[in-house]
Amino acid sequence: MRVFSIPMRTRFRGLTRREGVLVRGPAGWGEFSPFPEYGPAECARWLAAAREAALEGWPAPVRDTVPVNVTIPAVGPERAHAMTKESGCRTAKVKVAERGQSDADDLARVEAVRDAIGPHGRVRVDVNGAWDVDRAARMIRSLDRWELEYVEQPCATLEELALVRRRVDVPIAADESIRRAEDPLKVRAAGAADVAVLKVQPLGGVAAALRVAEACGLPVVVSSAVETSVGLAAGVALAAALPELPFACGLGTLSLLRGDVVDDPLVPVAGDVPVRRPSVAEEALSRWEAPGDQEWRGRAADAQRHLGGPEVIGAAP
Ligand SMILES: [Mg+2]
Repeated sequence: MRVFSIPMRTRFRGLTRREGVLVRGPAGWGEFSPFPEYGPAECARWLAAAREAALEGWPAPVRDTVPVNVTIPAVGPERAHAMTKESGCRTAKVKVAERGQSDADDLARVEAVRDAIGPHGRVRVDVNGAWDVDRAARMIRSLDRWELEYVEQPCATLEELALVRRRVDVPIAADESIRRAEDPLKVRAAGAADVAVLKVQPLGGVAAALRVAEACGLPVVVSSAVETSVGLAAGVALAAALPELPFACGLGTLSLLRGDVVDDPLVPVAGDVPVRRPSVAEEALSRWEAPGDQEWRGRAADAQRHLGGPEVIGAAP
């Protein structure tokens, strides 16, 4: 078990460093990197994902590359245009409704991204639940001038998502509304979304996420939890194993970290991430290795008690 701590290029969920542990088993390396505020019950699913990676391995892929989106943060239109062009991606996800930004800022950013990506590219926006129903309906209609692929989490609750979905023609994707295995079924039952954003660690592994995708019946976009290439490889494995993959995935996130633990990071090439599993390189890992061994063993042991089954991270060294 190895503890890592890697600085982030931009603040994410209020974090300036991404921290977690890497664990090695007969099937390969796994990553356990739950966010600091998560308790043992939530961490248990993240631990199940690490255990699957280390002890069991993943379902066979049905494709050998996964298209990914570039993410455009709350920057001005010129910067947004340049970032879209530089990415080489055919799909852009534009962050809107961020603090300190006006509706006019958001409209200008989306216009610039559409211009940069061209008429055949796809543009989606991510609201992170920030709008109420009326504002969502109004803004989605305005933004759809530039032809939106879908709108991710325009409002916070399932009820609001369902109301917005009935008022606009643009498809709605649920992200924050899906954090555990039963959530996609609730999303579907509420008529709250057309697309489900799934992440491997919160859902307890690749095989578990595949079952969730099948059960909910909605098209899936696989997204990362901003992991190292070890955790990201599990997201890529999920995207690679899905029978259908109609949308670009949110797996081009390695650029958010200042470093990685492998020599050949899982970065997109011309908008696609190759389906492969890089292995941890000692030299790369040693650069980001951090103290906190006992703390992480404690977190893993608490999660293990909730999870049951074979132990993946021992309580004592
Ligand atoms: Mg999102």
